[in-house]
Parts: sequence; C-alpha cells; structure tokens
Amino acid sequence: MASTRDTTRRTLLLAAGDSVEAAGERFRHAAQAGTLHELLGADFTVPGVRANDAVQWIYDNGMVNTRKGRAIYDQLMAAPADERCPLCGHGVVRTLDHYLPKKMFPALCVDPLNLIPACADCNHTKGDIQPTGPEKTPIHPYLDCIDNESWLEAKVVGSEPVWLDFYVSPPPTWDSHLASRTRHHFELFGLAELFSLQANRTLNSIRQHLTSAFEAGGEDLVRAYLTDEASTRLAHRPNGWEGVTYRTLAQDEAFCSGTFIL
Ligand SMILES: [Zn+2]
Repeated sequence: MASTRDTTRRTLLLAAGDSVEAAGERFRHAAQAGTLHELLGADFTVPGVRANDAVQWIYDNGMVNTRKGRAIYDQLMAAPADERCPLCGHGVVRTLDHYLPKKMFPALCVDPLNLIPACADCNHTKGDIQPTGPEKTPIHPYLDCIDNESWLEAKVVGSEPVWLDFYVSPPPTWDSHLASRTRHHFELFGLAELFSLQANRTLNSIRQHLTSAFEAGGEDLVRAYLTDEASTRLAHRPNGWEGVTYRTLAQDEAFCSGTFIL
C-alpha cells in the first residue's frame, strides 16, 4: 500500500513540477510581451490538486519547507539593500507580495519572480488585485526597472502651511503605455498622499534648521543646504520622495525666501 501511495505521490509531484515550471515560463513571456492582463487563472492550476488546496499543497511539498526553499525565501526578503519596500519606496519590507495573486495563480505561488518583498501596507493594499488591462498593470520592480530615469516630481502648493504635491512626470524615453502604468501604480498604492505626508513631516523636522540658516545667510544659504541634501539623497535613490522633497524646496524661490518660517 505504501509503495502505491508513494508512486501516486511521485507522479503528482512530477506533474506539479512540470506545471509550475511551465507556469513560470508563461508568466515571464507575458510580462515581456506586456500581456499579463490576458493570463487566465485556469492555466495556472496544479494538476491533480484541487484549486483551493493548491497553494498549501505547493508550500507543503515545494519550496518553503525545504532548506533550499527557505534560503531563497530569506534572500528575497532581504533583497532591497536598505529594506525599503520597492512598491512604494518608503515602507519597511515585512512580507512577500504575490505580484499575480496566489489565489488565482497557484502555480506561481513560489516563483521567485512573482514574489515581491513588500511593506505590510502595500501588501494589504494590493490584496488579490490582478492586472485588468495593459495600462492597469502595476509596475513590477524587477521586470520594469523604471528607476533608471527620473520620473517623480513635486510642486509646492500653498504657503500656509507649505504643502508638496507629488506626481508622475514620465521621461521622454518612456512610451505612453509605461507612463500610464506608472500613474496607475502611483494611484493604486496612494503614493501622492503618502509622499505629501512624509514631506510635510520632513519639513517640520528641518524648519528650525532652515530658520537658523536663513538668519545667518539668507535665501542663498537655505537654497545651498536644500540643494546639498537633495543631491545626496537623489544619488542614492533617484525617485525617492526625500530627495525629490529637498529638490523641490530648493527650486522654489518663495520657499527659500522664507515662507517656511511660522
Ligand atoms: Zn510599500
């Protein structure tokens, strides 16, 4: 009896291995072709395993419970050098998000390219959302590599209190498709609100320093300080909200002339 059970299990494992591998290939091909929204969950099941049980079955028999699997899992969690979440560029990595939801695409639940280290907020926001159209496909941090160019900008709105409005400013090299996807991503994860709040917090924390600089050297010293802070941060993270905050403030004449003084 035991050997019959072992043979069945072996057959099932081999079939599952093949389907997981084929699923990974379909995923990569679609990502490259920009057709992730056309993928159907029905093509990402595991043969011989009920759809509802598939994810647990893969975890139990596959990657996460093996030593090698654990190593890959840990490596992914530690992937961003400074532990910032690659989906928002702000939160601390606490979890692995399934780019294509594991509920609908169980065969991809342990595919390293479908596992994105994420902060709890982004993981929660995304939930089981899947791409619904070519322009409603969130940015994949490793496949899309949008941070090679500068795309995040902000402008100062209002002076009492000073408030920054963040937006996506697509570089000329991008096609309209990538621009729409980035805007969709920005909206989906609520990045305009998140960045504005953080910028405001930063401004409050440096206000005293800016006031002293203004008293000592006027707007030139304020601008020099902000420009210096901006270039340090942007060199490290070209589309980080911190660097963009400093750059935006440095470029705003009214701000450097003292609108920050309460
Ligand atoms: Zn995040």
